[in-house]
Amino acid sequence: MTVDLRDFIRTIPDFPHEGIMFRDVTTLFNDPVGLRETVDQMAAALGDQKFDKIAGLEARGFMLGAALAYKLGIGFTMIRKAGKLPGSTISEDYALEYGQATVEIHDDALDAGDKVLLFDDLIATGGTAEAGIKLIERLGAEVTLAAFIIDLPDLGGRAKIEKMGVKTHVLCA
Ligand code: 5GP
Repeated sequence: MTVDLRDFIRTIPDFPHEGIMFRDVTTLFNDPVGLRETVDQMAAALGDQKFDKIAGLEARGFMLGAALAYKLGIGFTMIRKAGKLPGSTISEDYALEYGQATVEIHDDALDAGDKVLLFDDLIATGGTAEAGIKLIERLGAEVTLAAFIIDLPDLGGRAKIEKMGVKTHVLCA
């Protein structure tokens, strides 16, 4: 029987602001069946697609992105919030609901021509994923798939990323 990952994800109202229904994946990661199923379902969905690297978005994209990279036998690249990476970086700004944020990648983390799987726990407006894709492309690599555990379709992020020409996969909406 297929495990429904939604059974492990809880919704916390009014976090981090009033009116936001926050999808909490800590309960998914906390459960041994939820954790293993998420990695296994994502690996199964990839079929025979091959990637050179997984790039994960801080911080929840690190958790299962790294587990998936381990399973696929490939390396894992961190895309971090500004000021956290110690080496030489490039950065991209993107808009948040209130204000702006910046993500960075080490400028030697990927090789030109690398096929990259971008991974995050959730896509909402798509701003974070879009900034990550731009960083990867600026290094001459290609995002051949952007994968997420959860999509919030009403916020249009997945459609936006697909319009950029990047294929997407989500495990639950
Ligand atoms: P976006 O940039 O697509 O609007 O927002 C996605 C980013 O914000 C992801 O990095 C994701 O981790 C975080 N995020 C936004 N809303 C939620 C939510 O309801 N639950 C979780 N777990 N993360 C969220």
